[in-house]
Amino acid sequence: MLIEGQLADAENGEKFNVANPATQEIVDSVPKGTREDAKRAIDAATEAYKIWSEKPSIERSRVLLKISEVVRANVEGLALSLTLEQGKPLGEARSEINSFANTCEYYAGLIGRERGAQTPFSTGEGFFIVTKRPLGVVGAILPWNFPVSLMGWKVAPGLAAGNTFVVKPASTTPITDIKVAELMVKAGLPPGTVNVVTGPGGVVGEELLDNPKVAKIAFTGETATGRRIMEGSAKYIKRLTLELGGSDPMIVCDDADLELAVEGAAWGRFRNCGQSCTSVKRLFLFESIAEGFIKSFAEKVKTIKVGNGLEKGIHMGPIHTEEQREKVESMVEDAESRGAKDIVKGGRPEDKELARGNFYVPSVLGDVDYDAKIAREECFGPALPIFVVKDLEEAIERANDTPYGLGSSVWTKDVERAYHAAERIQAGTTWVNSPPIARAEVPFGGFKQSGFGRELGIEGLDHYYETKSIQILEYGKGKKWAFPIS
Ligand code: NAD
Repeated sequence: MLIEGQLADAENGEKFNVANPATQEIVDSVPKGTREDAKRAIDAATEAYKIWSEKPSIERSRVLLKISEVVRANVEGLALSLTLEQGKPLGEARSEINSFANTCEYYAGLIGRERGAQTPFSTGEGFFIVTKRPLGVVGAILPWNFPVSLMGWKVAPGLAAGNTFVVKPASTTPITDIKVAELMVKAGLPPGTVNVVTGPGGVVGEELLDNPKVAKIAFTGETATGRRIMEGSAKYIKRLTLELGGSDPMIVCDDADLELAVEGAAWGRFRNCGQSCTSVKRLFLFESIAEGFIKSFAEKVKTIKVGNGLEKGIHMGPIHTEEQREKVESMVEDAESRGAKDIVKGGRPEDKELARGNFYVPSVLGDVDYDAKIAREECFGPALPIFVVKDLEEAIERANDTPYGLGSSVWTKDVERAYHAAERIQAGTTWVNSPPIARAEVPFGGFKQSGFGRELGIEGLDHYYETKSIQILEYGKGKKWAFPIS
């Protein structure tokens, strides 16, 4: 763990192992943090807040820039560490580390460049100004699918705004986050400004919810855990950003560039082994192009090479945990039992070399019942249901028939059609002719049960501030406020 800038063990000395999902070999062990450890980190962040929040924004900006440089300089080592604990291919791991650096760079550039104004009261006796104050200590609770970039989505804007952090990584992916936090201190971040406490969500995470010194929880994870975070935060009315699950629709219209859309669907569903919150999880095809699209897409999917992410030429690593693989399998079986046809038959690979890992060959299903689990719940792995629709209105109606509302995409050359769909799909983002790519400058977040609050962009910075209004009366104009009121 990293507390007050120092590597630390749990107070009781306990540890737990982190396994490589491609081989089940132990990568390393990390401290099994307790509530006491979490308290220690919260106290360190509380002390550090007094210093960090008072630093001029230009200094915070310089530290963030330095962090991005140092992280970039260490990209190879960090990417290797990430692949070993998470499973994703090295190329994807590199891009995740670089995305952390990009986010730091973006907020380093944004902070200190804001402009404001003073506004006169409508009644004329003075004016008001609106200022922004940081919140205090933030608890950042992270998932395992993008352990590093999602830490960046929280700490970069939060630090830019003057907050300090206790980060709780997912139990299966804590190692690279600790390494990144160490580099942040090396880059000049004062000790205690970002702390990392490893350990079970039900222990370390619960302390972050229960402790009155934590002002905000920034959470990314499943919708069910998000509900618990909301309940646990109610006692002290903590500020919340919740980035939860998704079941993103991709709509391919009859005028789309099909070659591009086939690539987009493969990228969108199979990057990170299908374990992205904004992975394409339901594909809707217009009737007239369905047959041709399915043929090309099936050919493309069959070329996906599954294996250990450390090896050259691998396109897709393992599913992160065995439990997760079983969930994907049961969703595919459920769809098949309701009459779905295998367009590409997926499942556990036959290759004996891969037997020890949680590998899963991509599965593509047609004729899927709309009541199948894979159509109704979040499928967090490399299996894709395809639905054929008659027109855009049906596609939009089906796309919205879910409790989720995170991402979505529409593929068409007709700008009016794209705009019409984007305005009607109930989701935080609609990509037009693009797979789901998050960008530091674009606000990101969910509608409906995919959460609330926004990360990234100017909006992402705003979620790390309290808005304060200062009302100022002009001298001599306050006389009419004499009491009692006549
Ligand atoms: P998860 O909800 O199981 O765990 C997330 C974190 O919460 C972990 O660190 C876990 O230890 C912690 N936690 C568990 N119980 C807790 C408790 N009682 N109190 C406090 N913390 C607790 O999620 P996961 O399986 O790691 O991640 C996958 C999920 O994340 C998917 O649903 C995916 O869609 C979602 N996700 C969403 C976004 C987004 O931006 N909307 C991005 C990535 C992933």
